[in-house]
Amino acid sequence: MLSVKGLSVHYGAIRALREASISVARGELVALLGPNGAGKTSLISGIAGLVRAAGEVVFEGKEIQRLATEDRVRRGLSVTPEGRHVFANLTVAENLRLGAATRRDRDGVGQDIEKYLGLFPILRERNRQLAGTLSGGEQQMLAIARAMMSRPSLLMLDEPSLGLAPRIVAQMFDYVSRLKEEGVTLLVVEQNVMQALKHADRAYVISSGIIRHEGRAEELRGDPKLIESYLGS
Ligand code: ATP
Repeated sequence: MLSVKGLSVHYGAIRALREASISVARGELVALLGPNGAGKTSLISGIAGLVRAAGEVVFEGKEIQRLATEDRVRRGLSVTPEGRHVFANLTVAENLRLGAATRRDRDGVGQDIEKYLGLFPILRERNRQLAGTLSGGEQQMLAIARAMMSRPSLLMLDEPSLGLAPRIVAQMFDYVSRLKEEGVTLLVVEQNVMQALKHADRAYVISSGIIRHEGRAEELRGDPKLIESYLGS
C-alpha cells in the first residue's frame, strides 16, 4: 500500500533522515520505534508532505511525492501530528466536522461523526465542549477521530500515547487496534516500545536518521538486546 524508497529530510545542515526505505501492506499496523531525535517524525512528515523530502513515496501504486499534503489526504493518507493538534476554541463536534473538510458527502460526514462518537464514548459526552478544555487523553482521541473523518485508508499517528497516564495509554492502544479491525492501515510512531510491539504486526527501528532494523513485532519483543541497543529500554 505504501512504499517509501530512499527518503531523506534535511533541516538546513541537519540530516534528520537518511535514505530511509519502508513499506506498509494493506491492513497492517506498523510501529516506527526509536529514541528522541531519531528521525521518526521527519519520516512520517516526509510521507505526509508536511516537510520537504527527497526520495520516492508511492501510495496505492502512485508516486505522491510532489503532491501537497491536502491532496495526499484526498487520496486516503492522513496524519495525526505529535502533540494533539486540536482547535482549542472549537467544540468537539466542530473539530470533527473540520476533519471532513476534503469531503463533499454531507450525509456520510454526519454518519461518520456518529460512528466516531460511538467509538470514543467520552467524546460523545463532551460533544459541545470546547476542545481546549478536554484532558490530554481526550484531546488525543479527538485528534485521532478528526483524522479519521477524512476517511483515510492509511493513518499515521505520531506518538499517540505521549504524556498520557499508563492506564490511558493502554486504552489508547485499544482504540488504535479497533481502527485496525475496522480496516484502517496504520503507521504508528511510538516511544512506548512494549505497548507498541504488543499491538503492532511489524516494526522498524530508527536511530540517527537511519533505519537500523525491520522485523515482526513478536520477534522484536523477544529480542531484549536489540531493543536495549537501539531504544535503551
Ligand atoms: P522525538 O521522539 O524526540 O519526537 P523524532 O525521532 O521524531 O524525535 P525528529 O523530530 O524527526 O525525531 O527529529 C530528527 C532530528 O531533526 C533531530 O535532531 C531534531 O532536532 C531535528 N529537527 C527536527 N525538526 C527540525 C526543524 N524544524 N529544524 C531543525 N532541526 C529539526
